[in-house]
Amino acid sequence: MTPCSRWAAGRQALLLVPEINLTPQLEERVRVRFPQRTVVALHSELAEAARERNWRAAFAGSADIVLGTRLAIFTPMPRLGLIVVDEEHDASFKQQDGMRYSARDVAVVRARQAGVPIVLGSATPSLETWANAHGGRYGLLTLRERANRQARLPQIRILDTRRLPLQEGVSKQLVEGIQQRLARGEQSLVFLNRRGYAPVLACPACGWVSRCQRCAANLVLHQADRRLRCHHCGCEQRVPKACPTCGNQDIHPYGRGTQRVEEWLQGEFPDARILRVDRDSVKSRKQWEAMLERIHGGEADILVGTQMLAKGHDFPRLTLVGVLGADAALYSADWRAPERLFAQLMQVAGRAGRAELQGEVVIQTQYPDHPLFAALAAHDYAGFAAGQLKEREQAGFPPYAFQAVLRAEAPQMADAIAFLKAAASLPLVAAHEQVMLYDPVPMRMARLASLERGQLLAESMSRPALQAFLPHWREAIEALKSPARLRWHLEVDPLEF
Ligand SMILES: [Zn+2]
Ligand SMILES: [Zn+2]
Repeated sequence: MTPCSRWAAGRQALLLVPEINLTPQLEERVRVRFPQRTVVALHSELAEAARERNWRAAFAGSADIVLGTRLAIFTPMPRLGLIVVDEEHDASFKQQDGMRYSARDVAVVRARQAGVPIVLGSATPSLETWANAHGGRYGLLTLRERANRQARLPQIRILDTRRLPLQEGVSKQLVEGIQQRLARGEQSLVFLNRRGYAPVLACPACGWVSRCQRCAANLVLHQADRRLRCHHCGCEQRVPKACPTCGNQDIHPYGRGTQRVEEWLQGEFPDARILRVDRDSVKSRKQWEAMLERIHGGEADILVGTQMLAKGHDFPRLTLVGVLGADAALYSADWRAPERLFAQLMQVAGRAGRAELQGEVVIQTQYPDHPLFAALAAHDYAGFAAGQLKEREQAGFPPYAFQAVLRAEAPQMADAIAFLKAAASLPLVAAHEQVMLYDPVPMRMARLASLERGQLLAESMSRPALQAFLPHWREAIEALKSPARLRWHLEVDPLEF
């Protein structure tokens, strides 16, 4: 008997998963696996009444297994005996607005307070969790067998695109791979984590680009309904017939998203049935279930999709995955980008060859020698994590340092920065020697929905020192005078800057 089953005997289990919409079969699978148990779900897509009923069942102790998304971590459970956080690395466990919290980290604290075991599960753990497992704070359990024993790991090929002619970003090798699958009646997936037709529309004559008026971002071209959309604030407009600045009628889309790749593939393979799967083609859980059914029913030969397709679905006839446009994350200013990319590519690679058929993954890149790809091709998460952790340690980034960020937003950047400067020069700051404050700077996305955003990073090598500092600092900031339309918040362990 494992420690978990012993603990959970006669007690309640809380199972947290990232986005329940993306795995509609999950609830059913849990019920089938535990036929004697009462299973209830808690997530935002449930109707109010069902949600209340399920919450009460958890609270009263009559539900044995509570399956939920991040908010479910706060469900009272009188017989709680076990917490499981599946795909613990997933960013959706972190609520990044309103009440900011990490459901995974709350789960760890809750388990400790309740004196019950917790399991953090992932094929690509977050580096924080991995470091905890190796530093001896957490125990490490390794699954050496795949759930489906017949399934073999896919072969991963790194394709150097620097000297290859590409058409709409697709190499001849990938086209041939798709052709072979079509001939054998197997499915292919072209993965591109960028929806829309093209990320920007621009005028070559005068340099006009489709910028969002409210954000520091470009408007994305959506060809199907001829709209330009901001993926950050949601505002949209019709595609102009000519350049709004100089009147030139010859304006062009630059770069590519899933719609453009889908269009090109359809031209290349006129007889193939192509399905595009992204947040534009699938907007609700119902549509998503219908889409999955079509894919399973063999109604698609080629899938073009974003990370929506990457998560935990078994497509038995899918034997080829082609990855486009992954390079941007390799040298991103966001030092967490490689970690996210590795997890994403591992997950999408896992779609190929789930059943008895051997899968192949083709990754097109201009940086074929990047260590991330070498680790990926070797299915070597541990090697990748070791390299990343070494870099983080040298740079003094988490998990080797602890961070909190104070953010301020206002109609004028100067007001936001002035407020952050005032917060940085509060007298109590000097008294907390183990906490270091950086200079206030604009956020990476400096403008969102007509507000300018600045941030101030607080960092310490000691978690207790940071925790001792934050409540006092917060109190002092609350007493600061600020312009009427300025809003601020403090976030611990920020994921985005
Ligand atoms: Zn122009
Ligand atoms: Zn916008």
